[in-house]
Amino acid sequence: MGRVPLSHIARCQRCAESFASSRAAEVDDWTDGHRCDPELAALLVLVTERRAA
Ligand SMILES: [Zn+2]
Repeated sequence: MGRVPLSHIARCQRCAESFASSRAAEVDDWTDGHRCDPELAALLVLVTERRAA
């Protein structure tokens, strides 16, 4: 009890990182300020290509 539900969730399509908050404005801030981890994004591209092949 007393937990605030994280009703707003953003997920980056490139690096699959996600952020959840009870406030939409915080999620918007995360989306605006998010920068993909280049190594993680590159790794996910490799995984996606391997699955598609
Ligand atoms: Zn990202």
